[in-house]
Amino acid sequence: MNDTQLRRSPIMPTVDFSAEGIQHGFLRLPYSRDDSAWGSVMIPITVLKNGEGPTALLTGGNHGDEYEGPIALFDLAHTVRVQDVQGRVIIVPAMNYPAFLAGTRTSPIDKGNLNRSFPGRPDGTVTQKIADYFQQELLPLADIVLDFHSGGKTLDFLPFCAAHVLLDKTQEARSFELVEAFSAPYSVKMLEIDAVGMYDTAAEEMGKIFITTELGGGGTATAKSAGIAKRGVRNVLSKAGIFKGVVDLVQTQWLDMPDGDCFSFAEEAGLIEPLVDLGDAVRKGQVVALIHPVGRTGEAPIRISAKIDGLLCARHFPGLIKAGDCSAVVAVTI
Ligand code: CA
Repeated sequence: MNDTQLRRSPIMPTVDFSAEGIQHGFLRLPYSRDDSAWGSVMIPITVLKNGEGPTALLTGGNHGDEYEGPIALFDLAHTVRVQDVQGRVIIVPAMNYPAFLAGTRTSPIDKGNLNRSFPGRPDGTVTQKIADYFQQELLPLADIVLDFHSGGKTLDFLPFCAAHVLLDKTQEARSFELVEAFSAPYSVKMLEIDAVGMYDTAAEEMGKIFITTELGGGGTATAKSAGIAKRGVRNVLSKAGIFKGVVDLVQTQWLDMPDGDCFSFAEEAGLIEPLVDLGDAVRKGQVVALIHPVGRTGEAPIRISAKIDGLLCARHFPGLIKAGDCSAVVAVTI
């Protein structure tokens, strides 16, 4: 095998990215296994193209237990008409499709966390092959990228759209414009705990206008959070000059995550008792949650305190917490 063959993705799309009109198909990823010797993972994809214009790449299910993105994108794929679009829209409602079908954050096949797998490998695990295909084939086609996230089973978020502070201030400003257009109740200048291997970073390093969301969590969606997602995707496409339909821009509250003091982590395991809820104002030093030791009675709880003034924008979701879990995130109103 020569280098070109080694670098080539095994994923075969059943759609033609340059064809006019609307196509519903698959990214077919060969996956040989016990119950299907020449089997495949069939990742659903829709491509809409109407003449010249920018390309939007829309993704959900990067983590398999986050649902607002898949809801908004499966909905968009079957409701949007090609005449509503100028340019091209590529829709992948469930990027890490095996994880999505399993209802888990990571893939049941290889335990791969897609959002820590970039740039991926064409000769790697199933999850690494998905990352590689986005890195090598889909991101280069895109002008703007919207990747939906929510908290999954272990976190819950205020509903927000977000982009990152970037070195390229033009790219950053265009990203924040699209965040504002999304019209989530909150808009965040987002700080990542661990940006290495993220799809976000891959897109931004390629110079793409990249925005993301956190729209709730707990491993489900609500009528409100799904509605925010469905409205937001159309608003973003409209702002980018791609969608010609009716949009619904609403006021958003901007929040900043200035540094690592936003995050609080549990140092002991136990039963977590929230003392404030999402959206509540907190002061520096305020106790936002208690962790009750559960090994025996008679023990005092451990306090989780806010390190900055702001409002609670994310929290640990399950009732039990482990050492090292992110327990609370505070963002600053701007
Ligand atoms: Ca996520």
